[in-house]
Formats: sequence, structure tokens, C-alpha cells
Amino acid sequence: MMSIVAIVGRPNVGKSTFFNRLIQRREAIVDAVSGVTRDRHYGKSDWNGKEFSVIDTGGYVRGSDDVFEAEIDKQVELAIDEADVIIFMVDVESGVTGMDEEVAKLLRKSKKPFFLAVNKVDSAMRENDAVEFYSLGVEKYYTISSINGSGSGDLLDDLVKALPEKEERTEEDELPRFAVVGRPNAGKSSFINALIGEDRYIVTDIAGTTRDSIDTKYNRFGFEFNLVDTAGIRKKSKVKEDLEFYSVMRSVRAIEHCDVIILVFDATRGFDGQVQNIFWLAQRNNKGIVILANKWDLVEDKDNSTVKEFEAYIKKECEPFVDVPIVFISVLNKQRIFKAIETAVDVYKNRSKRIKTSELNEEMLPLIEAYPPPQHKGKYVKIKYVTQLPTPYPSFAFFANLPQYVKEPYKRFLENKLRAKFNFKGVPVTVYIRKK
Ligand code: GDP
Ligand code: GDP
Repeated sequence: MMSIVAIVGRPNVGKSTFFNRLIQRREAIVDAVSGVTRDRHYGKSDWNGKEFSVIDTGGYVRGSDDVFEAEIDKQVELAIDEADVIIFMVDVESGVTGMDEEVAKLLRKSKKPFFLAVNKVDSAMRENDAVEFYSLGVEKYYTISSINGSGSGDLLDDLVKALPEKEERTEEDELPRFAVVGRPNAGKSSFINALIGEDRYIVTDIAGTTRDSIDTKYNRFGFEFNLVDTAGIRKKSKVKEDLEFYSVMRSVRAIEHCDVIILVFDATRGFDGQVQNIFWLAQRNNKGIVILANKWDLVEDKDNSTVKEFEAYIKKECEPFVDVPIVFISVLNKQRIFKAIETAVDVYKNRSKRIKTSELNEEMLPLIEAYPPPQHKGKYVKIKYVTQLPTPYPSFAFFANLPQYVKEPYKRFLENKLRAKFNFKGVPVTVYIRKK
């Protein structure tokens, strides 16, 4: 399981600057819902070959100091709950403040490993100024400059040593993993309970492989898989926006460790930004996707065209990745819930599909010949050969004389033809053009 590192500290100490340095060009997830008072970011990083997730738990906070104090308590609590290791950041320019002391107190009480990073130590002169931070009760601190990167190597060396070791993969882990994800109240738990109600299909209940999901080994349609429940464990969160954040975090982690996501959303609320975040995250991670439009019973005045219209609306939000199955369900009425699972199994099979090179070339080369890549500065691009790569998700290499001249639209054309010929419904397909 991927470890989580959280960065805490008061505003303006340089948390987001450091966060951005850690995740470099990788994409961050922004927790948009809570964006009114703060924005929270999530990303991935690695150091010395160890990968970990990073949360920047609190951006800016507007308002008075006492509002802020309540906020920082929550921020630290969140970090203590969710993270394996915490970076506590302070600012050498401002020196030790009351809020720093408050955070230090909370962290010491929690017994979570934390590293004190004294930021904005841009020059050797400021090293000396950092000494005062011993007053926060730490044995060691790390002086860093998030702006020029100095000192962060020492901090990260020690930090990754404190991360938990990777768990051994068990046999259960080898089974296909379907993660049920979505916003709070979409109906995830109800969906899983409805399935599990049919308990003759359950093989065993496995203690969650992570702290924040429950796996159930399940057998249906002659197919064995793990259903990953991200909603089953309810955290004792006091605040609605935190609940949302927990649920997004859990979805994020479940997505990284699954093969197919079952994305449940409330049809009466729509396929909104937060749902789309999860969708795009799964797409970028090359996971299979099934969309469940739940609470279909609550959608009023349905007629023959309602499903079609709704489908068109969702696909518009999913563009350009529209080759995704959408199942309209009502968990309440147990409508189509097994259809949903059956669809997930199909998507899994599509994702694991391996196509023989001979068959690929037989199908694809004539199509390419009939519609070759456009000329580039009078040069002809010739694609000679295609093969599927040995990745866990479908990816294809097309070998060409001038690969650099094959642009996005043509790659999309190739992808669409692959989809049309071989059925990759619900699965992101990657197309590479390589030099022959
Ligand atoms: P956050 O509110 O804790 O996320 O802080 P930011 O990352 O937004 O940084 C607050 C301000 O401090 C910005 O103007 C940054 O450019 C500046 N800053 C961040 N890191 C450093 C640093 O290492 N040295 C200096 N001199 N300024 C920094
Ligand atoms: P979760 O937070 O995603 O796990 O959502 P829950 O399973 O707890 O469901 C949230 C609420 O929606 C509960 O009150 C459910 O009874 C209700 N709910 C779930 N599925 C349906 C459905 O298909 N139709 C209706 N009308 N309500 C549903």
C-alpha cells in the first residue's frame, strides 16, 4: 500500500511550494469542494526508489485568528488520521509563533512520526536563525529552502526510512480488484450491501488490505474477484467537508490498487466535478471504468428517451474518453445491480485482453493504408507494424519511419479503430508511435 506523507503548518510557511517541488510535474488532485476556506492537494512522489503520496492538507485560510486556530486543529487531526508520516513546516523568517507551538503540541501528543522542516533557509546565514525551533521540543530539525531545493535531500532521506515497508502481496491480491468509489451518499455502501445480501456468492471476508477499505472476495458469473469497499469504514469526522475529503482520498488510494473502478454517482445530483475528478484519475491510471447512475428510481417523468439523454449528458462530461459503459441502477429496488457487476467483469476482461500480433497487423495495416497519416513537409509517414505491449492495461506500439510526425488526431484515429475492432469498452487504450 502506498504510504501517505502529509504536510502541515500555518499559512505562508511554504507548504505548497514544497509540495509542488515534491510532486514535480506530476498532477495533483485539488479538493475543490472545500476550496472556500482552503484548498487541499494530493499528489505522488518518490525518493530513493520509494513511492509515496503527499497531501498538502491546508492552503490558505482567510478570516480571523480564532477561525484559523480551529482550522489548523482540524488540519493536523486529518494528517494524524490519514498519514503515515508528517512533515511539519515552519518559517525561519517569522520565527516560532504561537500557532507553531500549538501544532507541535498536537503532533507530540499523537505519537505519529513527524519531521520538522524549517523552511526559507535560502542561505547559510539563516542556518543559525533556525536554532530557536528547538524550542518546539524536537531532537532534530531540517533546514530547507523550498524555493531553491536545498536541504530537502536530507529531509527526504530520513523521511522515506520512516515509511512503513511494503506489505507482502497475498494470494487475494492477485485476484481482480473492483473498487466501488464515488462521493459520499452516492449509494456505495447500499450497493455493496445489496450484493452481499446475496451471501451465497461471498467466499470470504478479508480484513481490509488497507486501513481504509474492506475487501470482500466474491464469486459471480463463474468469476472470482475482490470487491473493494471504500465506504464501509466511516471515519469519525466532525465536518462535512472533511468527510468529502476522506472519501476522495480513499477513492484515490483504492483506484491505485484496483483493476476496475465501479464509479457510483447519484443520478439526481448529476455527474459533477468531484465525480469527474475520480473518473479522470482512473483514466489517467489506466484503470477500467464502469459508471453506475444510481437512484434511478428517483428520476421523475422517465420515458423512452430519458436513458439516452442522460447517457449523452454523461458522455459529454467524459470526452474524449466516451467508450465507457453506463448502467442505470436503483440499489433501493435492486434494479440492475448484478448487471453492474457483470459489466465490471466484462471491462476487466477487456482490460486484460491480449491480441496476437498477426491478428493486429492483419486488421490494422489495411485501415492504415486506406487512411495513412497526413504528409508532413512533403514527407510520407509509413506505419509498418503494430504490436501490443506487455503492460497490465492495453497499450500498442505502432512502428513508423518518422514517428515524430504522427500527431494526436491520428493517434486518436488509431485508438478508435482498435476500439471498433477489438472491444476495449471501459478501458483506456494507449497508443505509442515508435521508430522502426
Ligand atoms: P503555504 O501557504 O504554506 O502553502 O505557503 P506557500 O507555498 O504559498 O508560500 C508562501 C510564500 O513563501 C510564497 O510567497 C513563497 O514564494 C514563499 N516561499 C516558499 N518557500 C520559500 C523559501 O524556501 N524561501 C523563500 N525565501 N520564500 C519561500
Ligand atoms: P455512500 O455514502 O456512497 O455509501 O451512500 P449510502 O449507501 O450510505 O447511501 C446514501 C443514501 O442514499 C442512503 O440514505 C440510501 O438509503 C440512499 N440510497 C442508496 N441507493 C439508493 C437508490 O437506489 N434509490 C434511493 N431512492 N435511495 C438510495
